[in-house]
Formats: sequence, structure tokens, C-alpha cells
Amino acid sequence: MNLIFLGAPGAGKGTQAEVVSEALNIPQISTGNILREAAKNGTEYGLKAKAAMDAGALVSDDIVIGILKERIAEDDCKEGFILDGFPRTVPQAEALDAMGIKIDKVIEINVADETIKQRVSGRRVCQGCGASYHIEYKPSKTEGVCDKCGDKTVIRKDDQPEVVLERLATYHEKTAPLKDYYEKQGKLVTVEGQEEVAETSRLTLAAVGVE
Ligand code: AMP
Repeated sequence: MNLIFLGAPGAGKGTQAEVVSEALNIPQISTGNILREAAKNGTEYGLKAKAAMDAGALVSDDIVIGILKERIAEDDCKEGFILDGFPRTVPQAEALDAMGIKIDKVIEINVADETIKQRVSGRRVCQGCGASYHIEYKPSKTEGVCDKCGDKTVIRKDDQPEVVLERLATYHEKTAPLKDYYEKQGKLVTVEGQEEVAETSRLTLAAVGVE
């Protein structure tokens, strides 16, 4: 099964993509994580991407489409994959269609902007492996330490309040039109984000047919 997870920054699409990835045993491909890793390693495209990411803007379509193409050509994607954070623009969605990639469903995690602004301040990410946490809704077992790899969990630079406002504006302008794009293809399923993460996960799993 090939799935896309759509949602505003902080809506919890990454968390839900991870739950479904584990349930279906198919890889979760987060373009944000790939870009952060490239920025950390100081690769040419990583450094270009970093400036856009730090400002809450999108990285250019050319760069992310190239990354995505390479990633889904890997062996572990043969049985399906979950795209977390891609596509984020209509040209990216068109590129996916042009590659002949069949998408089964597009899951939108819908959360109001006001709720997002309150939530994002509690987000933490592992500086080593990129795993995500929330101090209230999804805490790591030991505060500040990643459950998966033991590295430090930190606040993402682009989770600072001013940058979050910018990212939300970018989402509404560039990414939200994808809802229409996939609605027309009959693939869009909207899951209303709940107060309890576990409840959102239950609805998300039901949306992809896992009970
Ligand atoms: P995320 O971890 O999904 O919130 O992504 C973090 C940042 O990476 C975004 O704010 C963008 O700057 C960049 N990014 C990730 N995926 C894409 C994409 N598909 N297109 C453009 N920029 C992206």
C-alpha cells in the first residue's frame, strides 16, 4: 500500500505516519527528516535546504522531488511506503503522478491552527535519529533522552513560535490545495485530530483499514 500523510505542521502527521508504518510494516519516508540529516551533514543541497527550513519556507520542488525519487527506488519500498511531508505543493504531486507511482490513499490529519500553535511548543525531536516526541502527549521515557537511540531530544529550530506562524501560512498557501487535488482523485480521507493521540491513532488505523 502506498500512502500519503498530509497535515499542517504540528498536526501530528509524522506521529500517525509512524503508527501506520509499524502496523503495516512499510517504511515511513519523511522528507523533513532526510533534509535535516542532509543539513546536519553539510551536503550541498542540505545547506541550501537549511536556509529555507529555518525560515519556515519550503525547500525547492527540484531538490525534494530528486530526494524522493532516490528514496522510493530503494529496496524496502517494494511492498509499499508512507510519504510523510511529501508532496507539499501541487507540482510535487504532479511529479509523483508523472513517475507512475500509484497512491492508494491520502490521509489528512486535520487540526485547527489555534490548537497547533499551543501544541508545537511541546514538541521535541531526537538530534540523532530524528524520532519525534511531545512533552505532554508523547513523552520519551526519560526526559530529554531518545527512547530509540539514547541521543538528546531538542526543540527544532523551526518550532520557534514566529517560524511556526510562517510554516502555517506556507501550509495554507502551498500545501492545502493538495486536499482538492486528491479529493478529485477520490483518495482523500480526513481524520480529525483528537485531544488524545491514541484516539487519533485509532481513527487513522481504521482509515487505512487496520482495526
Ligand atoms: P517536516 O519535518 O515535515 O515538518 O519538514 C520540515 C521542513 O522541511 C519544512 O518546513 C520544509 O522547509 C522542508 N520540507 C520537508 N518536506 C518538504 C517538501 N515536500 N517540499 C518542500 N519542503 C519540504
